[in-house]
Amino acid sequence: MRSAAYKKPSPKCWCEFEETSYGNPPTKVSEEPGCPSCEIPVGPGLGLTRVLFAGDTHGDTNHVRWLIDAAKKEEAQAVFVLGDFGIWDHLDQGNFTDNVSRYALKHEIPVLFLPGNHDNYDLLFEWEADRPRCEDGFIWVKGGVGYSPRGHRWVWNGVRFMSLGGAYSIDKKWRVHDDEQVLARVGRKQDKGHSLNARERYILRTGQMTWWHQEEISQAELDHALRPGEVDVLLTHDKPRASRPDWNRKDIEDCWENQQAIQDVVDAKKPRVLLHGHLHYAYEAELSHPGGEETFVKALDCDPGASSGSGGSGDRHKSYAIMTMLPGKTDSHDLTIMSAGQFRIFGVGG
Ligand SMILES: [Zn+2]
Ligand SMILES: [Zn+2]
Repeated sequence: MRSAAYKKPSPKCWCEFEETSYGNPPTKVSEEPGCPSCEIPVGPGLGLTRVLFAGDTHGDTNHVRWLIDAAKKEEAQAVFVLGDFGIWDHLDQGNFTDNVSRYALKHEIPVLFLPGNHDNYDLLFEWEADRPRCEDGFIWVKGGVGYSPRGHRWVWNGVRFMSLGGAYSIDKKWRVHDDEQVLARVGRKQDKGHSLNARERYILRTGQMTWWHQEEISQAELDHALRPGEVDVLLTHDKPRASRPDWNRKDIEDCWENQQAIQDVVDAKKPRVLLHGHLHYAYEAELSHPGGEETFVKALDCDPGASSGSGGSGDRHKSYAIMTMLPGKTDSHDLTIMSAGQFRIFGVGG
């Protein structure tokens, strides 16, 4: 059944959309050349030099708006969220990503993200297959909202980045149990010939609603991340195995395999900087390599609601850091830490 035109990703959009199956992004049926919404105002391939990195946002629209405002104030050109962004479009019908898209386009600050453990991987992998990519390889989920898949690499102002999202959910057991219960209930309803609502049809199709079996980095994804080439900045959701924050409720055996995958990449690539979220706790650490190099690790707190609920500080100012990328140094690992939330890194380009 063809439905009426879908709500556009932005009021500025000139293109025509129609709704696809529930939980999937709308399909564009006609593209208007020069559309101010779909032609991303700031392409990350066009020389970003200052970016605001943020910890988990968990679908908190107000917090993401606050981060966009903070980016403007700090004269950063984009916001990059380090996982648990809030891709739960199957439950909120895309309200969060629509709202973020609208605000991002209005302020011309793209919002980029890598996946955490609480992001819908079924949708992300579908989008990976059929959504447009910008020249840096980010996948445009909606106008101004870009997704960075595992092992994705790009260069900003001579600084070489790689993202590697994912983590183990410490509350996996009850989430899996919950999904199984819902699935069983929906199955019984279907057997009786009752009609199913959109959410019920969704879980019948995918079998997952609050927990995703793709949440951890797979061996193939790790191999892909370890491919040749240097990395100056590694962006992850989970922590590397070797960092030792003084507070960590995710230091249990089930979490270690994913953390070790990140550690393998740190050991092989010796990035100068690693930024991550997931712990909902801000800390800094230095990891030393046998050759004398060091990796500066910085973890960021999350949105205030989830932060204070999980033992974090609840302080929004601990939920972001600003990185300035400067070209022209021969030593790609040159880093200057200016204050707790600000640092600059010199790339090899220029
Ligand atoms: Zn997480
Ligand atoms: Zn989280």
